[in-house]
Amino acid sequence: MRLHYRTFLSLVAIACATATLQAQPPAPDLVLSNGKIITVDERFTIAQAVAIKANRIVAVGTNQEIAQLAGANTRRIDLMGRAVIPGLIDNHMHLLRAATTWTRELRFDGVQSRKQAVELLRARAKVVGPGEWVYNIGGWTHQQFADDPKPFTREELDQIAPNNPVSLQESYFQVFLNSRALQALGIEANAPDPPEFVKGSIMRDTSGRPTGVIRGDIPATRPVAAKLPKVAPEQLEASSRALLEDMNRAGLTSVGVPGCNADVLEIFQKWKAQGQLNVRIFCIDGAAGANPEQVDRALGQIPRIKLFQGDSSIDNIFFGESVYGPLHDPMFATKSDPTSDQLQQWRRMAMEIAKAGLPLHVHAELHDTIDAFLDQIEAINKEHPIKSLRWTLAHVNQINASQLERMKNLGMYAAVHPWAVINGAIMHDEFGDGAYDMPPLSTIQKSGIQWGLGTDGTAANQYLPFTTLQFAVTGQMVGGATVNRQTIGREDALIAHTRKNAYLVFQENNLGSIQPGKLADLVVLDRDYLTVPADQIRNIKPVMTMVGGRIVYDASVGGVKNEQR
Ligand SMILES: [Zn+2]
Repeated sequence: MRLHYRTFLSLVAIACATATLQAQPPAPDLVLSNGKIITVDERFTIAQAVAIKANRIVAVGTNQEIAQLAGANTRRIDLMGRAVIPGLIDNHMHLLRAATTWTRELRFDGVQSRKQAVELLRARAKVVGPGEWVYNIGGWTHQQFADDPKPFTREELDQIAPNNPVSLQESYFQVFLNSRALQALGIEANAPDPPEFVKGSIMRDTSGRPTGVIRGDIPATRPVAAKLPKVAPEQLEASSRALLEDMNRAGLTSVGVPGCNADVLEIFQKWKAQGQLNVRIFCIDGAAGANPEQVDRALGQIPRIKLFQGDSSIDNIFFGESVYGPLHDPMFATKSDPTSDQLQQWRRMAMEIAKAGLPLHVHAELHDTIDAFLDQIEAINKEHPIKSLRWTLAHVNQINASQLERMKNLGMYAAVHPWAVINGAIMHDEFGDGAYDMPPLSTIQKSGIQWGLGTDGTAANQYLPFTTLQFAVTGQMVGGATVNRQTIGREDALIAHTRKNAYLVFQENNLGSIQPGKLADLVVLDRDYLTVPADQIRNIKPVMTMVGGRIVYDASVGGVKNEQR
């Protein structure tokens, strides 16, 4: 059966290649052959070879077909049987914000052993020297340490790094501090909490001594994160570069970015002009109203917003990710109760956004919030149709089938960010069995809505796409516990992380699949995503990542490449 399928696809590929030959195109610059090219085109075609000219794919087919296209100056890469997938796209990651701390952070994304985490902490303390902060801001959970899944204690962190303030933030759920960090934050035994901390968020033992744990959603963790040193302005470029290298190493080539900080964006614009921007950036931006007065002001500004002034390297594509601040669901809330006053302000904003013809990508998480937003959007749609604007609800871990149906009827999209990848254990504590359907991936897939996968990293979630893909296919969070029963097939999961996401960032003509005419963004893998045991998907490592025909990551030369073209 499988052979038959492949033979058919080869015939299709030959027909295409023949057509290309008749047009007598100039020889490609680069040919990748002898691989398993998982094209993720509409038929999910598997091919053997790809030809690239300048920054685009010019042909996809069998080894023989593509070999015929090569000329004397064509560079050839033997894939040695390796699997190749389209460059992975995360439709929602706070990437530019991450640049402001990246090289100062000790990230735990993908660290599967506690022993290793402790070694990393010791090594970092040594490198930065006494008195300097050792910290991270989210993206991990202690449940990911399969060897010893337990939280860090103040005493342990004191022992690991006695001379450094240490702050380790688990998602937005809690922060582990050592004694030096407590001191630096002004948190003391038998003294009142510093005023910037949320009441009750500083954990203390019965004697009033702070345990080192700060707990309670974004407002509780924020005062700690706010005190942590960002990279110095003169280091911002190096930090941004390290960040993009880590993205390429993970197989990411494009990111939808809520909140594109001007200082980091300027650096990316410079690299773009130099032909060295190694991740495509699609900004989701615009100021939400925080109160009715701010809404008044925003209504005057929205008509002047101009999106799509960029290109397939950097562009502004959405208003978002917040419309009205008071209706921005917190991460660990279990229920919401949007008031009619709040919804009225939300509608004033969203109506103006629709009137201005702007795409909208909005944070929508809790069941009642999603219902309330859809009520408003249905009303807005009658006055200013949104059908062609790709209005998107983001996160949607609590969405259900009837809400998906309403969205489909409105021509809306779903940007799905399974927070359970790291928060699965917390969500099971909060929601019980209901957490097994958060997000309801198979319901979303079956609904037929246009949807894509992302993370909401780098604080709310980890950023590694193969960890997200393993979750989608197995329901396993980091560390391996099964926390979701709504799994989907590998092909659908990959489609949602590539071709469907290309649609969610308005780049379906350029990105998302390995097809002639599309930009040459692709990833060569160390093992085959389609056949590796499902519980090892997260261990797949890119060996080469290409963006626009440039090799931006090459494991064989020790990682990073900055090819000039
Ligand atoms: Zn959000």
